[in-house]
Amino acid sequence: MSTESHLRLIWLYPDLLSTYGDRGNLLILARRADLRGLPVECAEVRADHPVPADGDIYLIGGGEDGPQALAAQRLIEDRGLHRAVERGATIFAVCAGYQLMGHSFYAKGAKYPGLDLLDIDSNRGETRAVGELAGETHPALGLPALTGFENHGGRTTLGPGVKPLAKVTTGIGNDGQSEGAWNGRILGTYSHGPALARNPAIADLLLRWATGQNMEPIDDRWPTALRNERLSAIAK
Ligand code: GLN
Repeated sequence: MSTESHLRLIWLYPDLLSTYGDRGNLLILARRADLRGLPVECAEVRADHPVPADGDIYLIGGGEDGPQALAAQRLIEDRGLHRAVERGATIFAVCAGYQLMGHSFYAKGAKYPGLDLLDIDSNRGETRAVGELAGETHPALGLPALTGFENHGGRTTLGPGVKPLAKVTTGIGNDGQSEGAWNGRILGTYSHGPALARNPAIADLLLRWATGQNMEPIDDRWPTALRNERLSAIAK
């Protein structure tokens, strides 16, 4: 952890990439850190501000094509996120944020360069992927099933430098087969929701990556009820 042992959570570009309640992911992370007695500092960094390189966990959310392209351009020029990754920071990237971690993505019919932080490329899909998304998570992550909601036009191809977050059981994700990607401490997903409310084990994984500490179990009756409700609704 960084400054005076506070865990620094940085929500990037809420003014551009916050279409799907992405602030919820910040709240869940801060709450779950707090319940473990970890002091937390949260910062919301708008697109006209430099990206601080001293964060522990960076969150970047979903958005429409125009704001997504603008966010990519600013993050490429800024390089703060790249410096953070070189320091070993953790990143949780959702949908548009996930696509722009890769080498390239499409927005408004044109191809744009991404940040090259994940070995993925995103292309246009023939249809929009909208609806429930669920999958069996990669065994190395030690997570329960992924549940979420997706709404995107792009499709994502994974290169050899990443592993999928999950094998799709409902919905589309990257391509109807796999969903999301991760490498090192960077994890991307198409799951909105907000994703961490529906997948608290992912929040704990991010906290473990950022602190190097195992997270003690906490009372998860409510999120478990929510997860079970959604998973059984999908199964019907
Ligand atoms: N604009 C991207 C797409 O449609 C991402 C959308 C999103 O973040 N929901 O593929």
